[in-house]
Amino acid sequence: MPAEEVFVALGSNIGDSMTIVEEAIVALGNITQCRLLGYSSLYRSAAIGDIPQDDFINAVARIETDLQPLALLLELQAIENAYYRCRDQEQHWGPRTLDLDIILFGNRSFHDSHLTVPHAEFCNRLFVLEPMFEIDGDRFIPGHGSLRYLIDNAPPLAMQRLDRGND
Ligand code: ATP
Ligand code: CA
Ligand code: CA
Repeated sequence: MPAEEVFVALGSNIGDSMTIVEEAIVALGNITQCRLLGYSSLYRSAAIGDIPQDDFINAVARIETDLQPLALLLELQAIENAYYRCRDQEQHWGPRTLDLDIILFGNRSFHDSHLTVPHAEFCNRLFVLEPMFEIDGDRFIPGHGSLRYLIDNAPPLAMQRLDRGND
């Protein structure tokens, strides 16, 4: 099987989130059978949902992998766990030290009990769409439309791109 291109969304809002996200991007490139192709700036975004919590630091990375989707998900969860993520005590959409979501896996589209690809909510999340556009420009996502179209139609979100080297 040829390697597939995968977009991974990163988010953190507990601890030193900028450092955690930057380190996690490096960790993605160190997963066995994965290579880091590119990554976005860091973004600061207001948390979505009803749980009061700190802003998130977000980014998106583009990797190439020979792993199958579920094997990659397990590797991502191992990285999350290395940052003390503790799912047992979490509320859904609550604060977390590190969240790694698979957004696109090649051109694949599937849904099972472990994984939905493309990610079920990515079209509604500017904190995913904007960083994807930054690293890859416009692209057509089968079944969804162009990234530009998705950005123009996503719900508004208070979000700021952070310059490298400052807050
Ligand atoms: P959301 O998926 O809406 O961003 P979340 O990231 O807070 O919510 P988690 O608690 O991190 O949700 O994950 C719950 C489960 O979602 C995981 O155990 C995983 O099996 C499943 N899941 C389904 N699709 C994906 C995907 N594309 N990427 C990562 N996890 C996924
Ligand atoms: Ca998520
Ligand atoms: Ca997740």
